[in-house]
Amino acid sequence: MTYDSDNIFAKILRGEIPAERIYENDVALAFPDINPQANVHVLIIPKGGYLSHDDFSQNATAVEKTGFTEAIGEVARITGVAQSVGGTGYRLITNSGEAADQEVPHYHVHLLGGNRIGRMITPPKS
Ligand code: AMP
Repeated sequence: MTYDSDNIFAKILRGEIPAERIYENDVALAFPDINPQANVHVLIIPKGGYLSHDDFSQNATAVEKTGFTEAIGEVARITGVAQSVGGTGYRLITNSGEAADQEVPHYHVHLLGGNRIGRMITPPKS
């Protein structure tokens, strides 16, 4: 599968679809998830066109990887969920591919917090 720049997050990056820009640096952008699953639910995406964590972890530059990791930490502090700013903590999730039901084919990390969000995952009903 090759990267398709018509995906919704690419459109947000280009400003074609509105999103509240909670934080951005040279390599990453953060905005609220449109369908929040916790009191705080923010998506952090790279500005480069990467399909998934699989793609990003192999093909992004060291500068992109470092900046992306830093952006996640900044978002956790800005939103008040990080322990270092008195928050109660947070969970990071990334869905990569079919088994994980990845919906949007532009790499993103979900940051969830602001309330108790339960144990890891709820298995699908078989
Ligand atoms: P995933 O299953 O990890 O690919 O999750 C995609 C996420 O993108 C979902 O949680 C959606 O609610 C979210 N989403 C889809 N469209 C938008 C949008 N326009 N703005 C913000 N979040 C979105």
